[in-house]
Amino acid sequence: MKYVRKLRTAPRCLHCGEKISYGRSDKKYCCEDCRVEHNNSLVREGKAFRRRVLAQLSANYDLLATVLQSGADTILMADIVSMGFAPSVLTSYRRVGKHIEYGCFDIKYRMTPFKIYSIYKIQNVSLNLHVDIETEQTL
Ligand SMILES: [Zn+2]
Repeated sequence: MKYVRKLRTAPRCLHCGEKISYGRSDKKYCCEDCRVEHNNSLVREGKAFRRRVLAQLSANYDLLATVLQSGADTILMADIVSMGFAPSVLTSYRRVGKHIEYGCFDIKYRMTPFKIYSIYKIQNVSLNLHVDIETEQTL
C-alpha cells in the first residue's frame, strides 16, 4: 500500500490573512495584535450597527411627530419614505382586533404598503418599561 502524506495547509490569520506557520493547527491569528484588532473590529461593527438603528428610530420618530404636529394622523407611505422613514425599523407591535398596531417609542400607528394611519401618541407614558413589555411584543 502506498503511503500518502497529508500536506498540512497552513491556516491563515483571520485578521491580516498571513499564513500561520507555527503553533496549534487551530490557531486563528498570527499574533496577539491581530487577535485583539480583529475582536475590536467586531465590537466596532456591532456598535456601528446599533448606532445606525438608533439613528433610524430617531428619524422615524421625528417624521411621525411632524405628521401629528401638522394635525394629521395619516400619511402616504411613498411620501414619508421619501422623507427618510424606514417602515421596518420600529420598537414594538401588537395585535389590536384584526389590525396590527406598530410603535416607535410612544407613537403608535397602523400601516399598509400604501399608507401609515391612525397615528397617535400615548399620553402619560410610564417610565416603567415592564408594563409595556407585558402588553406588547417589543422587538
Ligand atoms: Zn495577522
